[in-house]
Amino acid sequence: LRRFRVDNWSEGYFSINEAGEVVVRCQGQSIPLTNVIEAAHNLGLSTPFIIRFPFLIGEQIKKFYRAFQHAKEEFNYKGEHKAVFPIKVNQNRHFIERLLHYGKDFSYGLEAGSKAELFAVLISDIPENALITCNGFKDREFLDLAVIGKQLGKDICVIIESVEELVGLIDIYRRAETIPDIGFRIKLSSRGSGKWEKSSGEGAKFGLSSTEILLAIDLLKEHDLLDRVNLLHFHIGSQITNVRTMKRAIREAGVIFAEVAKLGLNIKYLNIGGGIGVDYSGSKSSSLASAEYSIEEFANDVVFTMEDMCNKHGLERPGIVTESGRVIAAYHAIVVTDLVEIMGAEYDLSHYQQTQNEVKPLLELKYALEYMNEKNYIEYYHDALEFKEDLRTMFTLGLCSLVDKSNGDILFQEIVEKTIAIALRKGENFEKDPFLRKFLAEKYLCNFSVFNAIPDSWAIRQLFPIMPLKHLDRPCDNFGVITDITCDSDGVVNAYQFPDTAENEYLPLHDEMADYPIGIFLTGAYQEVLANKHNLLGQMNEISVDFNEEGKLDVVSSEQGDTVKDVLNGMRYDDAFINNQSKRFFQSMDNPKLFRRFRSYLNSYTYMIKDGHD
Ligand code: PLP
Repeated sequence: LRRFRVDNWSEGYFSINEAGEVVVRCQGQSIPLTNVIEAAHNLGLSTPFIIRFPFLIGEQIKKFYRAFQHAKEEFNYKGEHKAVFPIKVNQNRHFIERLLHYGKDFSYGLEAGSKAELFAVLISDIPENALITCNGFKDREFLDLAVIGKQLGKDICVIIESVEELVGLIDIYRRAETIPDIGFRIKLSSRGSGKWEKSSGEGAKFGLSSTEILLAIDLLKEHDLLDRVNLLHFHIGSQITNVRTMKRAIREAGVIFAEVAKLGLNIKYLNIGGGIGVDYSGSKSSSLASAEYSIEEFANDVVFTMEDMCNKHGLERPGIVTESGRVIAAYHAIVVTDLVEIMGAEYDLSHYQQTQNEVKPLLELKYALEYMNEKNYIEYYHDALEFKEDLRTMFTLGLCSLVDKSNGDILFQEIVEKTIAIALRKGENFEKDPFLRKFLAEKYLCNFSVFNAIPDSWAIRQLFPIMPLKHLDRPCDNFGVITDITCDSDGVVNAYQFPDTAENEYLPLHDEMADYPIGIFLTGAYQEVLANKHNLLGQMNEISVDFNEEGKLDVVSSEQGDTVKDVLNGMRYDDAFINNQSKRFFQSMDNPKLFRRFRSYLNSYTYMIKDGHD
């Protein structure tokens, strides 16, 4: 039976029960995901949909805080630990509300990287004593919003990316007579590790160079504002694959810390950014879809290095600010899709059409099929690959007919099947042959869009664990590639949670099943906001669930996804245009029933609906 490495990548939040269903688990309670799917269907929500488990945000926050608390005790670190959540990772209001709810006891704050994000942050119920940090490139309006935040009494720190920004902030201060705290984002020469390592290093797009730090200090002195600077910040990139790079960055930041202290800055916090990796593949390796370390190891290494660095430079222990996002958010959401059909090619000997003058490669294929045996099968299989290629070349040159081509495909399929049957009889591992594997893998057409559900899979080939949500008490008898319903050849999932094996490219799945929900896990970070509406397949339905007092399923909220009208509106087909144009085309027909039927599709879900409606 296949377990899809669920114990390795799920941090214990998901597992398979005896009935072969995937369950979500928390504090000794568990719910089969099929129950959630049923609840969603009862609310009229069809697939694809996002299931949110807000309690998993709470679990990750607790784990994260405890790890830092424990590390501080272990290394007797006297500075505090303050976390802010970068809302770019998931700005969904329900998500942020739950995050702040679970983060209340820990004074969990937020980080904003744009005007809209800061606006959302300023209207959120941030716990008392929680920090707000502002990153990214800021125009005067962004800076003014931060000043308004300060006037509202928030503990807000504007992290300066350039001297120009500081000039802007000081200008506003002159008018408003209020100024938020100031942080410097510093440009480190140490680089991160992994896919986002370019976020740091001397060539990085962010941060102040040594010269710019000195200019900024002079400017602040001039306006008697040096005491407003209380934070140094760096971020070495998301999904750090090994923690050594973070230790190096802290040491380098320590040198800058000591230097700016000599110049009169009283830095209260070192903000080490985010970057804790999520082990999407469950391989605990330094590969791009994984992370070698746990949260606990990360916290220990950070706190130990901070203590060591402060000792070395004789510094007061600063507060450690973290901006981890991915590791907090990823686990709480999964996308549920379902199988529309398995698309195998229709190759069957019964479709063979005998013709009079068969071309040579076809005769060779026939011969190979007839005389293939246990001794020569590998040789004959390799010959067949060549004959198939010859036939393809002849076809493109117009030297054989479509019937010949089809006959060739059918014979080749038969040869492949015979090769596999002989290999299996002899106990040989045919899966090693990439061509055979590819040939065997069938396309599992699923009702979703890769571009909307897991845009990182398309854009940067990020891996997300995928598995069927039921029937796991039966062996998987097929290999599949998950494809979506977009009209795009990129709408295919290219990598699965099995690195270094053939099953990274193909997913073990079951043969034809009437009811076959498939879950795409760890989609809670970045995917929703990066989602695009390729083919006008829009935002998905969603349902948020919790455990009730008896440990049973409780639906907290649900939301309809985009309709046809919503996505058209988004592309500037406003209501007036839709109404005028549709009236214009139907005017001369005098068929109100047809008009109503046409218009009814404006309210349709953008994804496939089982059996449709009349
Ligand atoms: N802080 C800053 C400045 C970032 O740019 C990012 C994202 O790359 C983060 C925090 C969050 O990183 P992660 O989600 O990897 O923890």
